[in-house]
Amino acid sequence: MTATNTEVLPEIRPILFSKENADAEYRRDIGHTKRFIERWHADGEFRELLAQDPYEAVRRYGLERDPMEIRVLWDREYQQNLDPKTELPLSVRRYLAYQNEKARSRTRYRKRATPRDERFAIWRQRMISRCVSHLGGYKADYVVHAPMCFELSKGCSVGCWFCSVAAPRLSDQLTYTEENAQLWRDTLDVFAEVCGPAGGMGFCYWASDPLDNPDYEKYLLDFKEKLGEFPQTTTAQAQKHVERVKELLKLSESKGGFIERFSILTLKQWNQIHEAFDPADLTYVECIPQNKEAFDTTKSISGRALDLHRKRVAKQQEERLHDDQTFTTACVSGFLVNMVERSVRLISPCHASDRWPLGYWTLAQGNFSDGDSLRALLEDMMEQKMPTCVRHDMVVRLRRDFEVEHYDDGFILANRFWRHATRGTPAARELGHLLLQDLTAAEVAIALDERCGLPLEQAFQLLNELFDRGLLDEEPAGAQDSSGRWIPTQEEKKA
Ligand code: SF4
Repeated sequence: MTATNTEVLPEIRPILFSKENADAEYRRDIGHTKRFIERWHADGEFRELLAQDPYEAVRRYGLERDPMEIRVLWDREYQQNLDPKTELPLSVRRYLAYQNEKARSRTRYRKRATPRDERFAIWRQRMISRCVSHLGGYKADYVVHAPMCFELSKGCSVGCWFCSVAAPRLSDQLTYTEENAQLWRDTLDVFAEVCGPAGGMGFCYWASDPLDNPDYEKYLLDFKEKLGEFPQTTTAQAQKHVERVKELLKLSESKGGFIERFSILTLKQWNQIHEAFDPADLTYVECIPQNKEAFDTTKSISGRALDLHRKRVAKQQEERLHDDQTFTTACVSGFLVNMVERSVRLISPCHASDRWPLGYWTLAQGNFSDGDSLRALLEDMMEQKMPTCVRHDMVVRLRRDFEVEHYDDGFILANRFWRHATRGTPAARELGHLLLQDLTAAEVAIALDERCGLPLEQAFQLLNELFDRGLLDEEPAGAQDSSGRWIPTQEEKKA
């Protein structure tokens, strides 16, 4: 629904997927509503004043929006009592349409991020299915399962108390020297081979703030050239680098960037950002409230926040959360690359726990020195860790986060979020017991043949149905240290 003549454009338009639809008036309209809602989310004093004297509130905070026109967006009681047939003002409908586009963008992103390599694509899809039944549909909906991400620094200078990936202190940078630029471009070439167009869905930060690296924008331009997309930026330092960020936002729009994100840690930072940036210029910037005055924020209980929670539990200041009540901000099912260390980890999201404190599994790790060694490392990880179907020598067991209910004709897997039934035959009943015994797939299939007369190929079909849905246990043995490195078990060390 893109039009070139503004006169024929409808009054409500998609402006995220078709940015050319956002003329100056439309952008300004969304930008000012968004600015109002940001202030409402971030600032308790503003919320109080708004409830008492809405026009004084907008005057005092310099907001250019009629508070009563958009009342449905901030007054919950008013919203609940509103006659559903009431036509909402245009500004509200536009804002809601934009929010809706943003929500749909995650589904679109997940689809576009399907890697070219078949092993990788099948494994990632299995991780997506697993996360729905492991994290629950609500949490899983936020996870886009990017195929890879890059750190261009070692550590982070910001030091947020809640950092969900427990970023260490900033200690090193990948400066854009000739040698490093060559390594970076070779790295991107390898990911272009492995991922195809899905490589463009990657991004260039993790346990790092991208603006710590003074050459960050140069790396982004190479990324765009090699992988076809201008990657998203999330920074907690927009207020420190105002002019640089303004230029970055312009660059992103000129290169077809999608949406950027500011993480805002204090009310003072909100004020600085609202002072420095025009609302229309932040239409395509999600501002995430992390400050203590913010309304209804839920921090991911992983990394440093999990650590703090454990300390409070020890002092009996909080009830201990069960593992399935923690959270994760890990949004990669694929490769986490640190360009300073020249390291790669294969990761996938999970609930944060004592074994996986950062909210993701580390399934494999290794180092590289150039494009060829990176290619070999990724190939090895994909071959070893991304089986496309159940192999005869694979140990098969049901996931440990499920309770298993046994019945005469099969079994049901159940956790807080999901129920799955495999029922209807004596073989299904046997399978429910066999899949708790750490047998290989071949041993399970032979037992089903001997006990129930089930042909081997049908046994493998049953196993593969569970496997494809992410219901068989693929959690790596061992655990993760506080920096995300995988620590093998004693047996694995000996092997
Ligand atoms: S949350 Fe982000 S900005 Fe804050 S310490 Fe962690 S990596 Fe750095």
